[in-house]
Amino acid sequence: MSILIYTEHQEGKFKKNSLEAISYGVAIATQAGTEAYALVAGSTSATLSDLGNYGVKKVFHVATDNNNLSDTKFMSALVAQVAQEQQTDLVIFSNTLSAKGIAPRVAVKLKAGMISGAVALPDTSNGFIVKKNVFSGKAVTEIKVLTTKKVITLNANAYELKETGGSAEVINLNPTLPASSITITGVNKTAGEIPLAEAERVISGGRGLKGPEHWGMIEELAKLTGAATACSRAVADAHWRPHHEHVGQTGLAISPNLYFAVGISGAIQHLAGVNRSKTIVVINKDPEAPFFKAADYGIVGDAFEVMPKIIQAVKDLG
Ligand SMILES: Cc1cc2nc3c(=O)[nH]c(=O)nc-3n(C[C@H](O)[C@H](O)[C@H](O)COP(=O)(O)OP(=O)(O)OC[C@H]3O[C@@H](n4cnc5c(N)ncnc54)[C@H](O)[C@@H]3O)c2cc1C
Repeated sequence: MSILIYTEHQEGKFKKNSLEAISYGVAIATQAGTEAYALVAGSTSATLSDLGNYGVKKVFHVATDNNNLSDTKFMSALVAQVAQEQQTDLVIFSNTLSAKGIAPRVAVKLKAGMISGAVALPDTSNGFIVKKNVFSGKAVTEIKVLTTKKVITLNANAYELKETGGSAEVINLNPTLPASSITITGVNKTAGEIPLAEAERVISGGRGLKGPEHWGMIEELAKLTGAATACSRAVADAHWRPHHEHVGQTGLAISPNLYFAVGISGAIQHLAGVNRSKTIVVINKDPEAPFFKAADYGIVGDAFEVMPKIIQAVKDLG
């Protein structure tokens, strides 16, 4: 079986999460004694052959209007057709917002079993068993995929990106595709902001910060550390911060390497969206705050005293 990894790009760069998915696919291919190929759709100024640096031998490129990349029906037809033409048995996506729309449709078209949100390499010693988080990250389940064809979406930061060196052969494909059924009339981009879903570091604030006028310290620390900003739902509901920053059960589920929570109680619904973070740092003035139970590092203190010191310490590091 060959393995196909759908590789997303934005503003002339391949998305880091997609590169992780490539490393993951290459590792499975190595285990299975087969090859992994990347699939890139639309135009990008990134050099396609550079994906060989992550271990793929070939990059299939399908030229299409970049607006079509947001059309899940169109994109699922594209990915499924390439997978069928290339006789691919396993299609891998990073578990991004767009993959959440495309991957299940591809699975239906290929009659494939699908695992969404895989967190480890499959165990192939007795079939094909994949681990994924369930119950908002409180438990891990192992799912055996029985179909020959399979679709996996890989959680962000679940598999380390590995550079192998090398250059991939680029093959342009021209599959017959349906007309896109959506029209994009405009795109509003927030300049300079690190997308929360892909951020490696996240600085997040809760109601303990008392009001939107105190978000300067969250933004300053985020800027200094190259982090995205997030907030609790209580903060978004109070319109202190935009709703796209709200993380948790009803917001975005994230898994950065660092989640830095300031003045957030750590309610179960909040933890549901952040407890897959690799390292959690909590600042809260209440030593009984539930978040401390989930934290790797905790500071009991007033955010208005602690944060300026942390900001200064980061600045001193240069
Ligand atoms: C169905 C449902 C879904 C929900 N989904 C979500 C969700 O997705 N995400 C989410 O976040 N919430 C969600 N909630 C809400 C959740 O239950 C909590 O109400 C919310 O997370 C609380 O936000 P908070 O911790 O910012 O505020 P609070 O609960 O008010 O906590 C503020 C914290 O700040 C600390 N504090 C106060 N002053 C300071 C200071 N000066 N310095 C340091 N610390 C200080 C306090 O000790 C306290 O722990 C959901 C609730 C329900 C019922």
